Amino acid sequence: KGWKYLQKAGLPAMFYISKLDEEHANFFNVLDSLREMFGASVIPFTFPILQGETAVGLVDLIEKKAYDANGKEIPLPADANDKIEEYMAELNEQVAETDEALMEKFFMEEPFTAEELQTGIKAIDSMIPIGRGQRELIIGDRQTGKTSIAVDAIINQKGKGMVCVYVAVGQKASTVSGIVETLERFGAMDYTIVVAATASDPAPLQYMAPMVGAAMGEYFMYNGEDGKPANAENPGGHVLCIYDDLTKQAVAYRQMSLTLHRPPGREAYPGDIFYLHSRLLERACKLSDENGAGSLTALPIIETQAGDVGAFIPTNVISITDGQIYLTTDLFYQGQRPAVNVGISVSRVGGSAQVKSMKSVAGTLRLDLAAYRELAAFTQFGSDLDAATQQQLTRGAAMTELLKQGRYTPMSVEDQATAIWAGAHGFLDDVPVKSIVRFRAEMLDYLHHSGNGVMDKLADAKKFTDEVEAELNAAIPAFKAQFIA
Ligand code: ATP
Ligand code: MG
Repeated sequence: KGWKYLQKAGLPAMFYISKLDEEHANFFNVLDSLREMFGASVIPFTFPILQGETAVGLVDLIEKKAYDANGKEIPLPADANDKIEEYMAELNEQVAETDEALMEKFFMEEPFTAEELQTGIKAIDSMIPIGRGQRELIIGDRQTGKTSIAVDAIINQKGKGMVCVYVAVGQKASTVSGIVETLERFGAMDYTIVVAATASDPAPLQYMAPMVGAAMGEYFMYNGEDGKPANAENPGGHVLCIYDDLTKQAVAYRQMSLTLHRPPGREAYPGDIFYLHSRLLERACKLSDENGAGSLTALPIIETQAGDVGAFIPTNVISITDGQIYLTTDLFYQGQRPAVNVGISVSRVGGSAQVKSMKSVAGTLRLDLAAYRELAAFTQFGSDLDAATQQQLTRGAAMTELLKQGRYTPMSVEDQATAIWAGAHGFLDDVPVKSIVRFRAEMLDYLHHSGNGVMDKLADAKKFTDEVEAELNAAIPAFKAQFIA
């Protein structure tokens, strides 16, 4: 009662528990204010509030007034004025900085420019290429390899000057420490920040973690290596942000909202859950050259229930992102891992960023696979097939097999393109399907060491020149002659 001045949600305020001093104060954001009560999310900076404990008063940081629990004004301590001013100045500065940065973002000339973010995963880099600044959703049921794709993408950024932010929301602490251990093993913690709000953390922390990760990412994007604002002379950084996963953030937000007595909407989520996710993902962008040309690429993750992509939260996030990588349980259990369903996965902006060599082979790969899917469904009852159909089936099976890739084995773009090139030129057609994965690995190894430096030439030229093609046409049969299937 009497806390009318808090009617504008979002006002910064502070409340204290037993004594009006720094040690007993907690900052919080006012989320709701109803007639007789208000809701706030407490940021446990200083000391935790235990369940059942009652806040005994409030400090309004704008009016610089303190109130007791009955809403009666009480005098502030002598030094409180300075402290509040200091805190507010800091806050205002941050807000001003963010506003300025946001304004600049909206005046970019080119929304996306030609820079690719390589994940090192063949199925993705070839057919679902991700551009820097893009938002690409990884979506699938539980245990379909969602996190593995994200972790592979981080590992593949080694030496590429990228800063990675991995935000873990609502996962078991042991899972998160397993991921950190993996990243350490591959030397990826040198350039990676892990933000963790685990399943045992309170809902407000799980709700906030993705925004915290995004803010850290933005710091590196908006500033140069010297920590000063980026501009044409001082290039900003490139950041990869992974939110694993937004389904759990939505659940935490639902929990908070229901506790605050907000009216539940579809599937009991509050009406502004779409706004929450769109605000987060709108922070991904590619800055113009005048602003330092930095970028923030977002890979949000969504977990579906029994493949239901039509549920409320999945459809929301699908509509906010620039593309989706669909993972399916069927493929996963058929042994097609990563279990990417390339038929329905898309990337709406990354294609323009693709390296020429990859672009030239990716088109045929897509067609081969599409033809294969169609024919495989059509011919599964077995019948006499003409030679051309049989040939398409063989090619499709080989190409599908070629896309299999273990965890933590990112491949360079040249290796990926060469493997697909070999398949598209029929070099795999007579290799038994079960040997294709080994054939690919040994072939690339052979080409790297075959002496004429064809892989280096491909890496330099970034496309299949006549010279490179001639050398591959000679070297691959030579390797094949000595390959024991
Ligand atoms: P959760 O829903 O529990 O978060 P997830 O979808 O994130 O699961 P992961 O944890 O990435 O899935 O992977 C689940 C398991 O699948 C891993 O333990 C791993 O054994 C296996 N796996 C994932 N990717 C591959 C791969 N490319 N090759 C082989 N096995 C894989
Ligand atoms: Mg996971």
